[in-house]
Amino acid sequence: MTSNSFSFSQALLTWFDEHGRKNLPWQQNKSPYSVWISEIMLQQTQVATVIPYFNNFMQRFPTVTDLANAPVDEVLHLWTGLGYYARARNLHKAAQKVRDEYDGEFPRNFDDVLGLSGIGRSTAAAILSLSENQAYAIMDGNVKRVLTRFMAIEGWPGNKKVEDALWLEAEALKPNPANNEAARYGDYTQAIMDLGATVCTRSKPKCDICPMQAHCLAFAQGKQGDFPFKKPKKQIPTKYTTMLIPSYQGQLLMQQRPASGIWGGLWGFMETGFSTQNEIGLDEAVEKLKSHLGAVELDGANTLRLSTFKHTFSHFHLMISPIILELAHAPKTIKNQIKESPVPLPAQLWYDNAAPSKIGLSAPTVKILETLKSQYSLF
Ligand code: SF4
Repeated sequence: MTSNSFSFSQALLTWFDEHGRKNLPWQQNKSPYSVWISEIMLQQTQVATVIPYFNNFMQRFPTVTDLANAPVDEVLHLWTGLGYYARARNLHKAAQKVRDEYDGEFPRNFDDVLGLSGIGRSTAAAILSLSENQAYAIMDGNVKRVLTRFMAIEGWPGNKKVEDALWLEAEALKPNPANNEAARYGDYTQAIMDLGATVCTRSKPKCDICPMQAHCLAFAQGKQGDFPFKKPKKQIPTKYTTMLIPSYQGQLLMQQRPASGIWGGLWGFMETGFSTQNEIGLDEAVEKLKSHLGAVELDGANTLRLSTFKHTFSHFHLMISPIILELAHAPKTIKNQIKESPVPLPAQLWYDNAAPSKIGLSAPTVKILETLKSQYSLF
């Protein structure tokens, strides 16, 4: 517990007035819409990475209705490189709900905001406190780190009991006008995020310049590095896949993933499925993918196996082995392939890296394109 004379929120706000970040693009002309976009982009992603994406996004979709009316492929295209694509699909879905149910006006009521796709309690609180100065506490990674250290809260914050305890502390520490504390909820939210991002950092926290130092329990115990407790370790399995990349005169055959599941709705190369078996041979890969290839003529194709690389998901590692098939003959048009195919084909296109289509690409696809460009000069 804090001592009676010490106000966490006031100490934080005094520090914020001097040291807080006030020039980030989403802090200018704030609206619930722009704060929402920035908050979603900032989940799992560093500020410096987000800035150009945010600026592009707001330029292309200045209002929530512009976002709602855009094709989801274009939204995914502007998201390419940010990762966690479900965030972009949810943004689009939520924007359509705002357009259809709230006349294009982003809601200001907590429960309405919470009812939008991809928005949880902390994000709803961040949007409304930052843009509307409403009295809600947030609980992102920065806040978890500051609070677990400040109060020496043990246990992994992903554990429900620990998380509940953190929420109680977060609510109790935010400004309380009944105690003569200024009702600066938006600044307080920004301040606690800034303290976690710039002072109470994951490694080497700068306790010597921290406004909380005299009251911080982890500092008093010299145990800053112990908090927050880490997630109990679990081994994750390794799976393997082969990606087959028909190529003709610098263009690469891609197809769209099903709307749900891994890389849902994104474009990439055909893959043989995820198996626990190690790399497979070319013939076997082609055999597995025949139904995806339609009428693409593979006779006489030159093959090139690229280096295998690892992509890690939360629950398994995926070893990806890409194979380029340089076609000897001009492929038939996709339209004809689809017409001639005995089975329904997923949407396909010939991708030209020199004039990229406006589509969302999965992370391994981006990596393969970069490898082809930098190591094989194929474009
Ligand atoms: S004193 Fe150190 S550990 Fe405690 S809140 Fe400040 S930076 Fe974090």
